[in-house]
Amino acid sequence: GGERPPRKWKDWALERETELRLEAPDQEGSLIDIKLVRGTAEVFGTEVARNQSYSLCPRMKLAIFTWHGCTVRVEGEPQVAYISEETPMIMYLNTHIAVDQLRHRREKEGQIGPRVMLAGATDVGKSTLCRLLLSYAARLGRQPCLVDCDVGQGSVSIPGSLCVLSVERPADIETGEFNKQASLVYSYGATTPSDNFKLYTTVVTSMAAMFRERCTARPATKSGGCVINTCGWVEGQGYNALVHVAEAFEVDVVLVLDHERLTLDLQRDLPKTTEIVPLPKSGGVVARTREFRRRNREDAVREYFYGKRPHLLSPFSFEVAFSDIQICKIGVMVTQHRRQHFLFISAPAVPQSALPLGMEKVDGSVLLVHEEPTKQLSHTIVSLSMANSTEEDVASTPSAGFPLHH
Ligand code: ADP
Repeated sequence: GGERPPRKWKDWALERETELRLEAPDQEGSLIDIKLVRGTAEVFGTEVARNQSYSLCPRMKLAIFTWHGCTVRVEGEPQVAYISEETPMIMYLNTHIAVDQLRHRREKEGQIGPRVMLAGATDVGKSTLCRLLLSYAARLGRQPCLVDCDVGQGSVSIPGSLCVLSVERPADIETGEFNKQASLVYSYGATTPSDNFKLYTTVVTSMAAMFRERCTARPATKSGGCVINTCGWVEGQGYNALVHVAEAFEVDVVLVLDHERLTLDLQRDLPKTTEIVPLPKSGGVVARTREFRRRNREDAVREYFYGKRPHLLSPFSFEVAFSDIQICKIGVMVTQHRRQHFLFISAPAVPQSALPLGMEKVDGSVLLVHEEPTKQLSHTIVSLSMANSTEEDVASTPSAGFPLHH
């Protein structure tokens, strides 16, 4: 192996309450490394360790924020790098403090901790604020749940899934992710709630029930409460999805990022006991194009199977005969059954016009329908369900994983 050529580097001196915003370049292989050489700093709520190098993946966008001033060394050539003095961090910190006071109050009353929901259009920093609030809570020793209802750009499993995850430590700076060990994933199979609204709401309702069960079983989860991320689609059925999530989880607080009308609509439609708090978005949030989001989804699927740097995985394979599996679909989904497990795959819904004349359309959106294996299977993502039989409510049952299949 040859020696790596010396890389360009630059030291950035940050004043108190400012942040260095970075975007890593697109190309694979052109890594950016950051190192805190003086002072203290954090990345979306996670403390940066002094003199430790962190590598940013291609296309990663982040801010290194400092409360008291610091110097950050950046190695490599980022696509974008600048210091901003205008951040909403004080407001976000105050929000965190208010939420934690509510945790204390609820704990004294023996009640479940605060359920906080994020709402707003795409690219306003909802996921980032979720991560910040959860990482701050973890730094206080809290163990809240991350509930991810964003089926478009989910942060935990593959796109098209929802998830509940117990947070015990702040998110990892390099991957931006929380430890996924204590997570339950629900397969939905599409990237917008409107694809099968009934299935979406069914899954959300069972996740809320599961969250309550976890609260009963674990005092730390009970006092931690949860932070819920939602889809960036806030019109029509997207709005209805938001209202359903809020009702299912009986949220205490909705943080609305940069959306006045949404704030007013939610104040009108949610119970008076729910506090709707408008918050500004950070100027650092980078708008992503449709194409960028699509690529992100593809990356997320690939990372699910092959891992994310620096923790690459190599999936191993074994054969399963079609005679050992039973294929079903839930509404617009297809499900496979192997001994005690099920797999779902996405398939197009049958249009009303395709139904025989005079046949009444029943609402089959969460019905389990048996299917034959076809070639189509090889171009779909399947989910291995934890349901024990087709008699069970498969739609409301978590997924054991998404096997890679050929
Ligand atoms: P949403 O969930 O609302 O779609 P995200 O929280 O995913 O938005 O933010 C969009 C992108 O902007 C992400 O890549 C995130 O890392 C980046 N980002 C968020 N806040 C900042 C910031 N202050 N500086 C730089 N990049 C940021």
